[in-house]
Amino acid sequence: MTAPLSAADRPVPPGSELDDQITEVHRRYAEVHPRSAAEHVRAKAVMPGGNTRSVLHFDPFPFRVIGGEGSDLHDLDGHRYVDFCGNYSAGLLGHSPDRVRDAVIEALADGWALGATHLRETELAEEISERFASIDQVRFTNSGTEANLMAIGTALHHSNKDKVGVFDHAYHGGVLSFGDPGSGSHHPLNVPYAFHVAVFDDIGGLDRLFAEPDLGCVVVEAVQGAGGCRPASPEFLSELRHRCDDRQVVLIFDEVMTSRLSFGGAQERYGVIPDMTTLGKYLGGGMTFGAFGGRRDIMAAFDPATGGSLTQAGTFNNNVVSMAAALATIRYELDSPTIDAINKRGDDLIRALDDVFTAADLPLWVTGAGSMLCIHAADTRLLELLFHAALSDGLYLARRGYMALSKSITDDHCERLVRCLEAWSKVIRR
Ligand code: PLP
Repeated sequence: MTAPLSAADRPVPPGSELDDQITEVHRRYAEVHPRSAAEHVRAKAVMPGGNTRSVLHFDPFPFRVIGGEGSDLHDLDGHRYVDFCGNYSAGLLGHSPDRVRDAVIEALADGWALGATHLRETELAEEISERFASIDQVRFTNSGTEANLMAIGTALHHSNKDKVGVFDHAYHGGVLSFGDPGSGSHHPLNVPYAFHVAVFDDIGGLDRLFAEPDLGCVVVEAVQGAGGCRPASPEFLSELRHRCDDRQVVLIFDEVMTSRLSFGGAQERYGVIPDMTTLGKYLGGGMTFGAFGGRRDIMAAFDPATGGSLTQAGTFNNNVVSMAAALATIRYELDSPTIDAINKRGDDLIRALDDVFTAADLPLWVTGAGSMLCIHAADTRLLELLFHAALSDGLYLARRGYMALSKSITDDHCERLVRCLEAWSKVIRR
């Protein structure tokens, strides 16, 4: 193993400005990742950008991972990283948890591409509907994106309207991604629904949203995850609930990430129960997973026995591997004390990192709730330097400063991150 050098041990050359410092950290990174560099060149020939999941790219090139155990990732060049990114919140259990591995191996023994209904999907649906107050009935998908697409379609069908309320900076999937309100900066790959993009956590802005005559549903994250770990106020969520009730608009909570914030999800934490909920990420135990569910009368649209007119296709919706991994996760890995402990650790880390940046008088700050947190910077170049400083100390965050703590992250790991960034904040020049 090559021991990664500490950022504090490697001060940048005197007199260099931020851009020079970035050039220097990229050079050093490339120096100690020669095999990943070669693999990046190879991958770029056959995949644009050298990957098939855009968020995984960072400059000068991402390391190639070869494995993960517990809190750690290992790369092709022999480095080890404590994983604070947690697969963008899909890795809540840490890497390669035994019970999930065992459940998948056991399931495989009975065959996996069965093309028929089986017992595990019912068991999983029971677990999910017991856990999340808004879910009487549920259906599975293969991703959070798909879960949101299905939930929106179902909600519009139920309300018989065609407008979808969403909020600025929200990310509900690769085809449901929203920039600033009124800027027209919708993601070019977005699906062509009639969206109204309102301002997140702005009660005043709800007047305009609810003035839309064709508003059929509103999709919201109680804490925007990819949007920067921005929590909504409980008042905003209650007001949204209230207005949706008044107008009979279907309220959808995207809990693909936020369901990790308490045993019963953000809806339990904030005491606001939506009509529909979408799930994904960690609940699938690291396998491909998504789910959408909600009130029985809304979900009845999929029931042929009661004349429901919707069908939900999807060859792999009930795939045995995901069902088995999700069942093991929800049954054995995530009881209430475990979830609370991870979230408390996250709340402590938010405070500790914020204190470091304040003490250093750096234009960096931390937002989040529980185990979802994000470092923000007034100048993204600072974030680039911070990201590489952590990486060179063997600490892996998402490039954009996002972190999703897993069960395997300990207080000692958090302390290491705080000390690393404290040391870095003393040597950084801007
Ligand atoms: N919803 C939220 C809140 C997410 O954070 C994401 C992914 O980051 C999605 C939906 C999409 O999930 P998936 O990547 O599984 O399609």
